[in-house]
Amino acid sequence: MAIKKYEKEDIKIVWESEKCIHSANCAKGLASVFKPQEKPWIQPEGATKQAIIDQVIQCPSRALSIER
Ligand code: SF4
Repeated sequence: MAIKKYEKEDIKIVWESEKCIHSANCAKGLASVFKPQEKPWIQPEGATKQAIIDQVIQCPSRALSIER
């Protein structure tokens, strides 16, 4: 199972590929960070830490989570 982690200041954005249902909520909600067409597809420099946290908690499958 692929788990990817992306650092943003003192947190990590965690993405578990097998849980992702590709609803694209993240890409629609915060397109400056979540870019499914690019590599890496999560680019934490694109928004503030709080904006990222606010988007991550809306992931319907919990493929996205925050590690503190
Ligand atoms: S919101 Fe969650 S389930 Fe939907 S595409 Fe993003 S990571 Fe995958």
